[in-house]
Amino acid sequence: MHKGEPRVDQAGQTKVVGRLAPSPTGRMHLGNIYACLAAWLGVRSQGHGGVLRLRIEDIDTPRVVKDADCWIMDDLAWLGLDWDGEVVYQSQRADAYTQALNQLESQQLVGGQPLIYPCFCSRADIRAASAPNEGDGFIVYPGTCRGLSPQVVSERLARAQRHSLRIAVPDQPDEPDAICRFDDLIFGPQSFNLPRQVGDVVVKRSDGLVSYQLAVTVDDLAMGINQIVRGRDLLRSTAIQMWIRNHLQPQAPRVQYAHLPLIDGVDGRRMSKRFGSPDLGSLRRDGWSSRQVLGVCGWLLGLLDRPRPASAQELLDGFTWNTLAADRRDRQLDLSGLNVSDTKPSL
Ligand code: GLU
Repeated sequence: MHKGEPRVDQAGQTKVVGRLAPSPTGRMHLGNIYACLAAWLGVRSQGHGGVLRLRIEDIDTPRVVKDADCWIMDDLAWLGLDWDGEVVYQSQRADAYTQALNQLESQQLVGGQPLIYPCFCSRADIRAASAPNEGDGFIVYPGTCRGLSPQVVSERLARAQRHSLRIAVPDQPDEPDAICRFDDLIFGPQSFNLPRQVGDVVVKRSDGLVSYQLAVTVDDLAMGINQIVRGRDLLRSTAIQMWIRNHLQPQAPRVQYAHLPLIDGVDGRRMSKRFGSPDLGSLRRDGWSSRQVLGVCGWLLGLLDRPRPASAQELLDGFTWNTLAADRRDRQLDLSGLNVSDTKPSL
């Protein structure tokens, strides 16, 4: 594992260090490949100045599918999307996560609120106490356990009552550090009010597993990642990850973020393994070539005027984030209506 300091090339420029971060919960679908291709292009467009790491996000063990890590690596290789260095598995990083949690547990917010606190609420409790959310399924935790007295907390812990651990954000929306701002390469200036829009998120789940938010933040720091490319559904997660990051390594180099428009299937639902979206297993079985798959993804990224076969190398030509920034609308993909051939214009 590399240290978190920025890589500098011979000309003294900071190198872009990006990552592919697939979850081995099944075979990759076109939405995953589109995101991997974008991350690959973001780094490889830097010539030899960039580094692309591969991290298998197998922290959520109940959702991990046996051998899916091998399918993912085989599919990436088949597509010509290469990575640098050793593959990192989150399942091997328990010590780093425990150390980070200990470090956070020793901190307090201004006013004495512990940064990490136990939460005894069930999902049903939280839903019942929550204001209606913005429709993306994200519930801002209403703070029920944040104000429990130390005595109540120690009684419940002594009874071994099931609990998660949450990280506290500032509770006053007008506190200066209540607002998290960053500039996204695609979606432009972003601003999230942590207490209103994000809330105190779980860093360790009640089943004992560390949360996605903690694991990703710890790993991105440890791997020296300074360019993160992923779906726009994670814009709000970026705000909480920046908050965690500032408490783990306030001096860490800044990260460039590129959040991608999402890809919906014909039924209007987001591409997802759960909904059986076309994946590389079925596409390869149906005779698709890697150039055809990449051509569709390159077209979804706005790099081709129509879906036609292209290699990853060919898509590098003239790659810039501005193309995506100019059209941030979510995409809809109807594979049955696509003709991904070299000769006939399609769609
Ligand atoms: N493992 C996540 C996924 O496959 C990516 C998370 C991230 O990029 O932070 O969707």
